[in-house]
Amino acid sequence: MVTGGSRMWSSFEFFPPKTAEGFERLREVRDQLAVLEPRFFSVTYGAGGSTREPSLAAVLDIRAAGLTAAPHLSCIGATRDSIREVLAQYREHGIRHIVALRGDLPSGMAGIGEFRYASDLVAFIRAETGAWFDIAVAAYPEVHPQARSAAEDLLHFKTKIDAGANLAITQYFFNADAYFAFVDDCGKAGISVPVVPGIMPINNFAQLARFSDACGAEIPRWVRKKLEGWQDDIDSIRAFGLDLVTAMCQRLLDHGAPGLHIYTMNQASATLEIWRRLGLPPSVG
Ligand code: FAD
Repeated sequence: MVTGGSRMWSSFEFFPPKTAEGFERLREVRDQLAVLEPRFFSVTYGAGGSTREPSLAAVLDIRAAGLTAAPHLSCIGATRDSIREVLAQYREHGIRHIVALRGDLPSGMAGIGEFRYASDLVAFIRAETGAWFDIAVAAYPEVHPQARSAAEDLLHFKTKIDAGANLAITQYFFNADAYFAFVDDCGKAGISVPVVPGIMPINNFAQLARFSDACGAEIPRWVRKKLEGWQDDIDSIRAFGLDLVTAMCQRLLDHGAPGLHIYTMNQASATLEIWRRLGLPPSVG
């Protein structure tokens, strides 16, 4: 059973579907997850504004259902005017949460635009909209792949917080100790915002391996070997994944993590099962 009582943070992440059927399916997933009463459902945003319209549509759909939506917003390749426009759209629709990111420049895209780092975006959002938005930013317990050192990465993370972010959500990891060490370092650096661990359920090895290689999340060797060995045996992969990830969530919560942010991959079943196994009540907001 989880410690920390009824104030636990929870948030669930979606990506914007590409088709009408995808939207319909996501609606069902969202309704299944809504019973867990997350603080928000977040929706990713393709770097360079590549998913601007479907991201906005997914956000408005969440809001129309009476739920809280948190659009992600990435700034790489963007101009100040284009970000100003997106912020105005969100404000107009009463959106109060944003996950502010740099993003990664898609291949083939030329200039980096008018923002260099996520801290520039956070500062811009605060300058333009004051306290209107709660701003979450990304954190990397296993160190961002482009960072020269863990110490520099932490310093850059602090810059984002000092620019006005209220919350951090981590890249996913499978090693709880990396999270505990990171939170410890945050404390020593005077960072006091909640750092919510991002949790990736395991559904498919090939996809997980691809993501992990790209984002620098480490799959422990013994985990990789087990998952590889099962090949197309999805049931064994999911059963093992649930055991592994639930045990890690339990450990994180038992040792002070403020809650969980789930990378749902637009599916409900793993999140529902993790909640059930952890004995978390539906009402955790
Ligand atoms: P930053 O905080 O800007 O950091 C990027 C790198 O620059 C780091 O190595 C950092 O150490 C370094 N750095 C920062 N400031 C400085 C400085 N002043 N001088 C030198 N170096 C510096 N991507 C998307 O495209 N869309 C999404 O919706 C999306 N959602 C995400 C949600 C979460 C919770 C997470 C963890 C990641 C998400 N990403 C998303 C991925 C993210 O965009 C990438 O990880 C990207 O490479 C870094 O983004 P950031 O906001 O962390 O960048």
